[in-house]
Amino acid sequence: MLVNNLIIKNWKKIAVSFALLYPNQLELMLSSYTIRLLYEFLNADSEVACELFYLPKGLRYPASRDLLNRNDIRSLENHILPVDFDVIGISLHSEEDIKNIFWFLDKSSIPIERSQRHSFSKESGKIFPFIIAGGPVITSNPLALSNCVDAFFIGDSEPNLIRFIEVFKAFKLKQLTPQQFFEELRHIEGIYLPEINNITKRVYLSELDQSKIPIKQLNAIATQRQKAFENNFFIEVNRGCPFSCNFCISSYHNRPFRNRSYEAIVDAINEACFHSEFQKISLIGSCVSSHPNFPEICKCIIAKKKQISIPSIRIEHVTDEVIAILEKGDVKTITLAPETGSEELRYTLGKKITNDLFFEIMTKIEHSKIRNVKLYFLIGLPEESEGDIEELISIVHELGQLGFDKKALRINVNPFVPKLNTPYEFETNFYQQANIPILIKRFELIQKELKNVSSIKLKIKNPKEIMRKARIQALISLADSSISEFLLKYYYNGANFNSLKKVEELEDLSIDEYLEKVKQGYKAWKIN
Ligand code: SF4
Repeated sequence: MLVNNLIIKNWKKIAVSFALLYPNQLELMLSSYTIRLLYEFLNADSEVACELFYLPKGLRYPASRDLLNRNDIRSLENHILPVDFDVIGISLHSEEDIKNIFWFLDKSSIPIERSQRHSFSKESGKIFPFIIAGGPVITSNPLALSNCVDAFFIGDSEPNLIRFIEVFKAFKLKQLTPQQFFEELRHIEGIYLPEINNITKRVYLSELDQSKIPIKQLNAIATQRQKAFENNFFIEVNRGCPFSCNFCISSYHNRPFRNRSYEAIVDAINEACFHSEFQKISLIGSCVSSHPNFPEICKCIIAKKKQISIPSIRIEHVTDEVIAILEKGDVKTITLAPETGSEELRYTLGKKITNDLFFEIMTKIEHSKIRNVKLYFLIGLPEESEGDIEELISIVHELGQLGFDKKALRINVNPFVPKLNTPYEFETNFYQQANIPILIKRFELIQKELKNVSSIKLKIKNPKEIMRKARIQALISLADSSISEFLLKYYYNGANFNSLKKVEELEDLSIDEYLEKVKQGYKAWKIN
């Protein structure tokens, strides 16, 4: 697999080497707009060499159990080992990837624990990379990684990365002592340093146009068999969301909702088409259909003879005009998120969309040239009852009668995971061990009732496994620094279900008790 548009710099001519880690596989790394953005953004500084790292498939935990050689983990560009970089920057998008971060450091012989890196450097003179992290999981709550990471970026990272690099350059040139370096960082709003536990605020760009769109974006050179690696161009049209669904970090952690100007979007599309050949333009944003020029943006892409890819559309935004545009753009699949089958529960979540409207729109889609619909549902929501699950099953059955082709309705059902600093942050009830079987049964019921509907493709594989992963995700999302210690031991013991139980005994920490404390109002991290 070859990656296009890599930026390869001469290390003799740079001041700072920056390892950008996406703690999962290459395929996912290339589908991340953040990685494309940060890569071009950091490399725009001629004194910085930003090089990429991703993780191999089939990891075994801890890294000592994995047969892969330490020397095989090298940057894509100059094939440098992680330990030889000045800075390691981690973009974290899923709680599950925390164990992969530990694996990466461990395999690279970099002490995972922050305190050990510092004491090693004092004793042996070995300077380890300075480790920073950002992304939605970190902004929501960085504390699960507080014993590992040196500095966290809370909120939009663009403004603070520039300031961080300037301060780091001065430190590297010995113009600042380590104490002065930390002192400088402490004064940057939006940087959290667990070493001193400073109080900081979430930072954000006031205008999205201030975030420059990467033009020569990373892309895979795909073979015929590697269809996942389409050659595409990503364009972020908005950040945040104007709606406020009670469970959603996209809305609560990205406030205020900001649209990029239509002019900037069109200019970027024109420039990108001039520089590169690609087939598809993907619109990026939590609610791209809320952009006031959404139809015009789609028309502009069609006029350039490119395919359009859209992440998900608010149900009420699927108008006749939008359907006609998507048909013209040869869009074959549309994604909608009704979240529940129960209208009442949907309203409680903050998604004020009636079932009648949902059906009306689904009927229109069925009559159009759009062949497939991906539908996202959540279960395990606060106040959810057995009746709500029956409503979900019944609504999907009814959709199955609308006339869609075989397996055209792709139904995704995920467990709701409470996120810190959202209105549902204390809703841990379903993650108590005693209540987990309730959700497993709900998953199994949905599987049983929907498996024989020909127009439906149901994406639920193993309910027990789904719930095990979700419980860890909930714990990480709501973690305090004691959980950070716990997670490290969980990693060293194999990062699986058995190790979870074992570490609970070893550490004398009960997940149930911790989640109960949260349910009673304990909040480990507050966004200012
Ligand atoms: S509409 Fe979607 S992105 Fe916006 S708050 Fe609701 S769930 Fe989040």
